[in-house]
Amino acid sequence: MKPFTYVRPTSLREAAAAHARHPGSRYLGGGTNLVDLMKRDVETPDTLIDLTRLPLHAIEELPTGALRVQAAVPNTDLAAHPLVRTRYPALSQALLAGASGQLRNIATTGGNLLQRTRCPYFQDPSKPCNKREPGTGCSARDGVHRDHAVLGQSDHCIATHPSDMAVALAALDATIELYDAEHGTRQVAATAFHRLPGDHPEQDTVIRPGEILTAVLLPPAAPAAASLYRKARDRASYAFALASVAAVLELRDGRVHHLALAFGGLAHRPWRATTAEARLTGARPTERALREAVDAELAAARPLRDNAFKVDLARNLAHDALTTLIRTTTGDPPPTPRRP
Ligand SMILES: Cc1cc2nc3c(=O)[nH]c(=O)nc-3n(C[C@H](O)[C@H](O)[C@H](O)COP(=O)(O)OP(=O)(O)OC[C@H]3O[C@@H](n4cnc5c(N)ncnc54)[C@H](O)[C@@H]3O)c2cc1C
Ligand code: SF4
Repeated sequence: MKPFTYVRPTSLREAAAAHARHPGSRYLGGGTNLVDLMKRDVETPDTLIDLTRLPLHAIEELPTGALRVQAAVPNTDLAAHPLVRTRYPALSQALLAGASGQLRNIATTGGNLLQRTRCPYFQDPSKPCNKREPGTGCSARDGVHRDHAVLGQSDHCIATHPSDMAVALAALDATIELYDAEHGTRQVAATAFHRLPGDHPEQDTVIRPGEILTAVLLPPAAPAAASLYRKARDRASYAFALASVAAVLELRDGRVHHLALAFGGLAHRPWRATTAEARLTGARPTERALREAVDAELAAARPLRDNAFKVDLARNLAHDALTTLIRTTTGDPPPTPRRP
């Protein structure tokens, strides 16, 4: 590992100033992703700016009923928070579906959203990779790409975004709060925070150099809405999603009043299923309507040689999630879970 300097600021202003003084620096949350990448020489910062002493550890309910989660809140604490479990079950379930208990104790809200792809070529500096070193090529396209993207990929990169939490936040219409010394605080919709790869796969998100992710804002949850997160993976735990789905549903008078559906594991960012949502909003959620809406969304998929199975996986996950939510909302017994 390349030697680096370590600094421990105690305020946002100090942290931003430290970054301005050391352009080759990185912020450090729990370190569970960044330090791994440093050990492999994928990340080689001159300076680590540890954010864990900043006053960013609170989860607070705002007078509007919204929830503000600060960036250093550990994944474990967020998943277990009573208001998260009762009002935003999809978020709690997504967090608990990620990593392991020990990792979740250390991993932070900010670091989870800013973790890097698990594409094996990105993690191996001996292999060409446009995300790690722009202009060198994409080893995965003709290589091992079973876990890679089927939606929104580009000629330059087919990586997927790994965070389960980010998928739930996309469906919950959360907002990400960012800070830098020059511009102060700005807010970005969770659905616009992560990027598709396009010509610049090296940029995972719209965060600007030196910006600090300070908080996530969850809008007030509609009392009649239900939400859930489903994840399919190679092992029962400790594995990233092959495909996952977060869904928020509110029915009124037997019709879909509000639906938010987001897929994980399929694209370079959480994939908000706007085509399916538009088809179902205002409609009666019949078996046929659900299937047609999800199929219409996934018609945009362009699988590669080895990952077409992800489209079927996502289709089944979405169908099961929506059916379960409908039955939960109407009080009917949930369907017998199918193996994805
Ligand atoms: C074996 C293993 C399995 C895993 N499985 C899953 C899984 O199934 N699902 C899942 O979602 N995750 C999984 N993870 C990922 C894990 O959740 C992340 O490593 C973790 O969330 C990263 O959080 P951190 O605080 O440790 O981030 P760090 O490693 O500290 O930072 C990650 C990145 O974020 C930046 N950063 C951190 N905080 C801020 C901030 N506030 N502002 C600006 N930049 C910041 C850092 O500079 C770095 O670039 C797994 C990890 C491991 C090691
Ligand atoms: S898929 Fe993206 S991250 Fe993986 S090798 Fe290609 S460019 Fe790199």
